[in-house]
Amino acid sequence: MSILLSVIYLIATVTFIVGLKKLGHPDSAKNGNLIAAAGMGLAIFGTIFIHDLQVPTIIYVLIGIAIVLGGIIGWIIAIKVEMTKMPELVSLFNGFGGASAALIGVVEFGNNNIPATDATIVATILSAIVIGAITFSGSLIAWGKLNGTLKSVVKIPQYNIINNLFIIGIVVFSGYVVASGADSSLFLYGLLAAGLVYGILFVLPIGGADMPVVISLLNSLTGIAAAVTGILYDNMVMLVGGILVGSAGIILTVAMCKAMNRTLGSVIFGSFGASAGGEEGVNKTLGTIKKTTSSDTAIMMNYASNVIIVPGYGLAVAQAQHVIHELEELLTAKGVNVKYAIHPVAGRMPGHMNVLLAESNVDYALLAEMDDINPQFNNADVVLVVGANDVVNPAAHNDPSSPIYGMPILDVENAKHIVVNKRSMKAGYAGIENELFYNSKTSMLFGDAKDALTELVGELKNM
Ligand code: NDP
Repeated sequence: MSILLSVIYLIATVTFIVGLKKLGHPDSAKNGNLIAAAGMGLAIFGTIFIHDLQVPTIIYVLIGIAIVLGGIIGWIIAIKVEMTKMPELVSLFNGFGGASAALIGVVEFGNNNIPATDATIVATILSAIVIGAITFSGSLIAWGKLNGTLKSVVKIPQYNIINNLFIIGIVVFSGYVVASGADSSLFLYGLLAAGLVYGILFVLPIGGADMPVVISLLNSLTGIAAAVTGILYDNMVMLVGGILVGSAGIILTVAMCKAMNRTLGSVIFGSFGASAGGEEGVNKTLGTIKKTTSSDTAIMMNYASNVIIVPGYGLAVAQAQHVIHELEELLTAKGVNVKYAIHPVAGRMPGHMNVLLAESNVDYALLAEMDDINPQFNNADVVLVVGANDVVNPAAHNDPSSPIYGMPILDVENAKHIVVNKRSMKAGYAGIENELFYNSKTSMLFGDAKDALTELVGELKNM
């Protein structure tokens, strides 16, 4: 490799690390993204034009067409995608990363320059194929669950046993192919198919509320697949980029496990949830609900000292981040102490609420993590829950049969008054009833979050 290419790869590697560091805070995240993207562009340029690829000109033309087409499609999707569709888009892109790694593995397995007897190389290729295939099919299932196409958990009898035997089978069979030096495309495509099937089996039975853990894990697998292909090509940029994505994904997975109070083992070796998405149904035994209006809520908030706002997925759906910021500023101007309580899995992607509120320039210092805010609900005069459901569901504490049992939640019940804004009595993503809505301290402010908050702001302005 030429010195120039090594320098280019080094610069690209540094931009990935700096970019990732900057992604850690909303203020610097945009720049971080641009810096890392520029580094990636540089690495691609170097690989195509400085690397001695020794390929016919037509290959350069095909690469050019692929880059231009991919760039245009990516650009259009990124411009057009609604904020609420971002999580599913990220899942889809994640899957494409896995598919790329698997395809590289398939191509390189038949490459005459790679001896089938070199166990290390064959093991690397098979890892790329299997991990890439699992990531691809698993991410497609996650995409379907996030956009609501796959509504309920598919219950497979003896799921845990079948799934674990399946993955053990894949590992043992891969070991056999590596050890025997077998150069058969039948084995290759068999492993590719097995990886694809395992990805589906792995994600399909995961319960709604537990999806964040799986999404982070798939994210990490994409990075590992890329790192494996980096080893294959002895390419430092691919390796470092993959390791960064893989390790960041693992850290996120551990954080999500902590947020859901699950173990990583239960994620990898067995489905742990039981229910998923969007099923309606009101348990009549829970009692009656109390409705409120924006003017009554405004009065309550106007005379409060401490207000805590709990944002959830519905805030993103309604795109009410700007009006909620206006509400917070208005209350602050009236001398009310306002904070936002952020649950780690609120919304549909890790950090969803932070990103959403950063978009409307909410002061980052006002966002309080779950562990910090939970002891403060006792002192809150009013808690305003906007489009959140599962993350405030007391079933996580009280009902051992609930699929979200054991998941830490925001303890809004401890506040003096709770106002919940949502459009109906429909369930949240986990598809379960929420007894908080029937609590004697809770009032339901029905309506789209943007409309309800706009009315609330109007009422407060007139006071
Ligand atoms: P939920 O999905 O539990 O609830 C959202 C609520 O918002 C719904 O009950 C809905 O009720 C309401 N809503 C929807 N649209 C509007 C609107 N326009 N105006 C007002 N309200 C609206 O959200 P949470 O944030 O509480 O919990 C997140 C859930 O998603 C958890 O179960 C989590 O595990 C899961 N998840 C999280 C991921 C992540 O990475 N963060 C990834 C995948 C899943 P209604 O229809 O009556 O209005």
